[in-house]
Amino acid sequence: MALSASLLTHLICSTYQHHYSPHEPQRFCPHCNAPLIACYDLETARNHLDRDQFAHRPRGLWRWHELLPITDPRFQITLGEGDTPTLSLPHLGDHLGLSHLFLKDEALNPTGTFKARGQAVALSKLRELGLKKVLVPTAGNAGGAMAAYAARAGMAARVIMPSDTPRANVEEARIAGAEVILIAGLISDAAQAAASMVEQGWFDVSTFKEPYRLEGKKTMGFEIAQAFGWRFPEVIVYPAGGGIGLVGIWKAYQELKILGWLEDDTPPRLVAVQAQGCAPFVRAFQAHADHCDFWQKAQTIASGLRVPKSFGDRLVLEALYDSQGIAIAVSDDEIRNAQKLLASSEGIFAAPEGAATVAALFHLKEQRFLNSKERVLLLNTGSGIKYLT
Ligand SMILES: *Cc1c(COP(=O)(O)O)cnc(C)c1O
Ligand SMILES: [Zn+2]
Repeated sequence: MALSASLLTHLICSTYQHHYSPHEPQRFCPHCNAPLIACYDLETARNHLDRDQFAHRPRGLWRWHELLPITDPRFQITLGEGDTPTLSLPHLGDHLGLSHLFLKDEALNPTGTFKARGQAVALSKLRELGLKKVLVPTAGNAGGAMAAYAARAGMAARVIMPSDTPRANVEEARIAGAEVILIAGLISDAAQAAASMVEQGWFDVSTFKEPYRLEGKKTMGFEIAQAFGWRFPEVIVYPAGGGIGLVGIWKAYQELKILGWLEDDTPPRLVAVQAQGCAPFVRAFQAHADHCDFWQKAQTIASGLRVPKSFGDRLVLEALYDSQGIAIAVSDDEIRNAQKLLASSEGIFAAPEGAATVAALFHLKEQRFLNSKERVLLLNTGSGIKYLT
């Protein structure tokens, strides 16, 4: 049987299970103000797909196309995103007493961060649905990536970001032809500005306010499973801003479990790392809460983590609780030191967000969250070069 390019069936509200059609543009559930989740015919996938065939396909995230939302392959946009390397960190591992420490280097994506994955998939789907104008409020990297993929897709782009966003983000968006609007304040203020513009025919691709960036981020989870022989590492350490990548990895785990492709169903324990100057998930996790409160006066050098309140907060916390994970905060000084340590010991110049995961290891060791024999995977979400001023 020939399978269609995508096994997407419908969208479901993450709170009350309302269903929505994937054949027209959708944002979030208007009844519950909750993110929408893409659902696939996993039964058919289970019966007709073989996990080992994916290794033989052309490189990049579109190798997972049956489990991505684009129906007609002609609408798939690519700049070569996905298939980033999983590197072992022997020196840092020795230093920390961890015998199986790894890092997935998302800095190798187009535009230098993992935001490329989400934008590649979201803009491909919007192009398939006939949309021509996209906008995004952003802490920086999502805007740079969106601008690049919009240029590639022939769509108009508008990027709204804080005026103190790293300069590389402003320049990469402008050179790709996007209209850049700098505002005083944080991503939450940019989001308010964006909300007033959706009326004018611009589609808002904010984190969790449309269902498809999550699908792009999900491919990290597929790649992780594949790289580790279809056994997730025991621990995955992720720098959480809005947390969409963490939810994406968790969604990948759940889909792979249903597909029966995992050698071992044990879930990875997910760690959300935040900055002490903006740690809404840490505060909520410690209070065993199911949602986050808005973090006042957010401040950190890790601009991607400067998200005072995620629209998908409930999903992120659910993934942390369900996976027996944890949320922890590190200081900007710890992030700077970790950045130096990672670059000098392993040759990886990580973004501050990625370096935060290294800083977190010291806390995780101290709290005995880690066992020295476990496989621990850090996500370096971006390149340190993007943050040079
Ligand atoms: C956006 C971003 C993050 C946070 O990602 P979320 O999925 O929003 O949690 C982390 N690191 C970098 C480099 C980013 O650009
Ligand atoms: Zn709903």
